Amino acid sequence: MLKITAPGLVIKEQSIGESDKLITVLTAKHGIVRAFSRGAKKAKSKKGAATSLLAYSDFTFSKAKDTFSVEEALVKEVFFELREDVSKMALAQYFCELAYEFCEEDFESEEILRLFLNSLWLLKSNKKTVPFIKAVTEMRLMSLSGYMPALVACDRCGQYETDTMFFSSESGKLFCESCKPPEFCRCINSSVVQAMRFVTLSDFNKIFSFTLTGDSLKAFCDLSEDYLLHKTQRKFKTLEFYRVIED
Ligand SMILES: [Zn+2]
Repeated sequence: MLKITAPGLVIKEQSIGESDKLITVLTAKHGIVRAFSRGAKKAKSKKGAATSLLAYSDFTFSKAKDTFSVEEALVKEVFFELREDVSKMALAQYFCELAYEFCEEDFESEEILRLFLNSLWLLKSNKKTVPFIKAVTEMRLMSLSGYMPALVACDRCGQYETDTMFFSSESGKLFCESCKPPEFCRCINSSVVQAMRFVTLSDFNKIFSFTLTGDSLKAFCDLSEDYLLHKTQRKFKTLEFYRVIED
């Protein structure tokens, strides 16, 4: 019998019968692990909290006949208090859906897991606003997942910065005013260009350490979401719910 021991974040939880559940866990080394947790719904189960949505736990999984089971689960950190704030919870659920979309089984996911854990921690700590955390997470996730936008300079003439620049979600490229291509591009000011460069190119531990406000923040948020949706070409139910809450 194969055994895997790994810390992981529970990104999905489904009830199976009266006392069992099927959980989906994002781990660093093994990517997505889907495992049955027998008896986890029973009131006395020690595994209950550790196998709940948004728990980050030390897991021991065993595999038999292509099916994983949770042998042991011990809580390291939980983000359950996000459930008390509907807008934070909506964003956390969107992050879980993104993790499921961007990671696979047997897929090295260390940096993506670290990004989501850090974003959930920030969300819980009230140190940054909900839309800001969402936008930074989306933009960094794209960079980690093979969709790094080309932001160093205008893609055609190489100008580093002009007052207004244009970003194409289609191509993931930046242009100056004179080189703007015919396709739809978002017009962005230099603060937004700087923010995008910062989030995609900085060391991980710095990506949230800047401030944007007002129209620039709004432009950065719109652009991050738009870029992610363009590249994934799919709809996220949890994002639609988040939008309803935020409106
Ligand atoms: Zn140019």
